[in-house]
Amino acid sequence: MEQHNIIWFRYDLRLDDNPAFIAATKSSNPLIAVTLFPKKTTIIQGLPSISDARANAIYQAIESLHQRLTTLGIGLLVIQNIADIEAKVNPSSIETVFYNDYPGTEEHKQFLAMKAVFDQSTFQESLSYSLIHPDQLGFSIEETPDVFTSFRKQVEKTVVVSAPQECPNVLQDGVRYSLPSIKSLGFEEVLVLIPSGEEHAIDRLQYYCIESAKVRTYKETRNGMFDWDDSSKLSMHLSLGTLSPRRVYATLKEAEAIHGANESTYWLWFELLWRDFFYFTHLKEQQFFFQPWDFPVQLTSKQQVLFLAILQGQTGYPLVDANMKELVKTGWMSNRGRQNVASFFVHYCKLPWSLGATMFETYLLDYNVSSNVGNWRYVAGVGNDPRDHRIFNVMKQGTQYDASTEYIVRWLPQLSALPIHQRYLVNKLSSSQRSTIGYPDPIVGLPWQ
Ligand SMILES: Cc1cc2nc3c(=O)[nH]c(=O)nc-3n(C[C@H](O)[C@H](O)[C@H](O)COP(=O)(O)OP(=O)(O)OC[C@H]3O[C@@H](n4cnc5c(N)ncnc54)[C@H](O)[C@@H]3O)c2cc1C
Repeated sequence: MEQHNIIWFRYDLRLDDNPAFIAATKSSNPLIAVTLFPKKTTIIQGLPSISDARANAIYQAIESLHQRLTTLGIGLLVIQNIADIEAKVNPSSIETVFYNDYPGTEEHKQFLAMKAVFDQSTFQESLSYSLIHPDQLGFSIEETPDVFTSFRKQVEKTVVVSAPQECPNVLQDGVRYSLPSIKSLGFEEVLVLIPSGEEHAIDRLQYYCIESAKVRTYKETRNGMFDWDDSSKLSMHLSLGTLSPRRVYATLKEAEAIHGANESTYWLWFELLWRDFFYFTHLKEQQFFFQPWDFPVQLTSKQQVLFLAILQGQTGYPLVDANMKELVKTGWMSNRGRQNVASFFVHYCKLPWSLGATMFETYLLDYNVSSNVGNWRYVAGVGNDPRDHRIFNVMKQGTQYDASTEYIVRWLPQLSALPIHQRYLVNKLSSSQRSTIGYPDPIVGLPWQ
């Protein structure tokens, strides 16, 4: 029987700087590429496990990977259950399974399921998620500091980021598979706000760092919610793995060489370190990273009312409502929006952070478990770096970061009937004034009153 190898694509839907793919191409066995597509289930009433928009973003990334692999002579097999693979691939014909490893409970279950199917094969692991390889950290994963600033300072003392590795120019005689339609995978076809796939990822990186050099004003604009170029918008590409963080770093260095380094170019590196910090914290803490995971199996009727009001953008607080409408409609929310919505969710509504994190998992195009859980815990003030003062004043934050109210009016046009200075303070008007413009009463009071 002819021997094959498997390259298993996970959150690394690219050929550029993909350690598992590069390792797989070094063997002469024909390659079978496999990827697992998510299934839609219901988490709790009104909340599916994944939105159509996020599923479409993943699908587009897979479509682009499929095309690139096909030109190399390799087929991509898309499955929704690991057990389904046996109908297409004979396990005893597989010598080695190449894959990049990721932390996470679901990810580990998938790995065990693959091992169970290919129990005679060798599994060869690589790592592709972080900017800094664990071997280059300067300390062991168990020694990862609990606080970001200590992590950053230690890393910055010694770190050297490796150069990204180009996609090998190989031609393999692989097995071809046709791509199932998005409908047959259980999702509606919808337009995705951010074009997904490896080429689009590289285009955005080039545009942001080199062509427009917007990165040079990143530190001043990054808290904005209105203009698309306020921040890099690379997160979805990094989360799906259509873009390598080392490619981002190399391009950032190129931009600094061409246009000059400044505080803003440094700040992009600083934010990429946050991403690595949550990843290494997740690796260090393993299942404790999710504690306290007080996910309610059944919401109380009060929780249900509050949760639905947040989901529908009907809380009576414009910054929260505009951001939630944007998220549910497009799959995008700015970092400023996420911090405020999360703070409102946990501190104003007293809803469990794990429910908020699950809601973001459903909708965020850039969802990834380490950044999502790490940030929710941080805002909630739980976990390895607990602090008490992350309660955002959502009215003050609105007037500070959206002084013209352009952002809220885009999502809540009824507020344009009010003078600008009243728009973020609509909760202070009378109920009848709010009802005249068709805006809801606040669902909760302020946490400090
Ligand atoms: C409650 C909450 C949940 C979040 N969930 C996610 C998530 O699921 N996936 C995700 O990628 N980011 C998450 N973030 C972090 C951050 O909001 C997004 O990474 C950022 O807004 C993406 O926009 P950008 O690509 O334009 O980022 P930029 O501001 O341009 O930053 C560049 C890159 O740095 C990384 N980065 C920036 N800020 C953070 C941060 N606080 N934590 C970790 N990495 C960061 C991202 O990879 C980002 O693409 C969350 C933040 C909060 C407060």
